[in-house]
Amino acid sequence: MGVAADEPLVEALLAAAPAVAETPSAVQQAEVPVVRRRGARSVTDWIREAERLAAECATIDDLARAVGDFGGSPLKATCENTVVYDGTPGASLMVIGEGPGAEEDRRAKPFVGKAGQLLDKMLAAIGRRRTENALISNVNYWRPPGNRNPELDELAVSRPFVDRMIEITRPKLIVAAGGVPAVSLLNSRDGIMKLRGNEYTYRTPGGYTAPLIPMLHPAYLLRRPQDKSRAWRDLLLIEKRLGELEA
Ligand code: URA
Repeated sequence: MGVAADEPLVEALLAAAPAVAETPSAVQQAEVPVVRRRGARSVTDWIREAERLAAECATIDDLARAVGDFGGSPLKATCENTVVYDGTPGASLMVIGEGPGAEEDRRAKPFVGKAGQLLDKMLAAIGRRRTENALISNVNYWRPPGNRNPELDELAVSRPFVDRMIEITRPKLIVAAGGVPAVSLLNSRDGIMKLRGNEYTYRTPGGYTAPLIPMLHPAYLLRRPQDKSRAWRDLLLIEKRLGELEA
């Protein structure tokens, strides 16, 4: 995560990604690069299945159950738990990270390891707490082996659930924490260093629209504390926009 580790992934995503400007459907995102098949079903079949299951969910609890029952991610075979969300559904702020690490996988909760503790401190600095006014989730719900970055098809099968969670909880502002969620959600050819500092519009396939701000991932900051002034600027932008959106 973060620039040092993110750039190779970003390059790989870019080499494979179709050049689509607006938020595409998960199938659109996956069709070009994905060739892997999982048993008798192709990745496109699994994405369709995820879309069907997600569309049937009316609440975030329905969604958490549907993700838990879903068998379309190869990562499910190697992880311990499905990690869906934590915090306050319906909060103005939704933070979307990359996916569970070892501690998250063990405790079945997003952002509870060292990076998660830093995220909590960062959010507290702008008056946000997961127990009160922030919802925390990821673009992938299953820990990749050895904490590698999730691959395109692994992101694509989760995406209908990510979109449905946004539609159900209707955040006023989405924050993409790190390069993986920022590049994936924005379908961008740019890396996190170029994306951060700006605001984008995220539109789900169901038509819900919210501003999206990318920020540096807390795990990156743990490795590069010298970039904390950049992170602080990200937080100030988030605080300012939340103030405007909540007014
Ligand atoms: N990093 C993430 O991006 N998400 C988590 O849940 C934990 C660490």
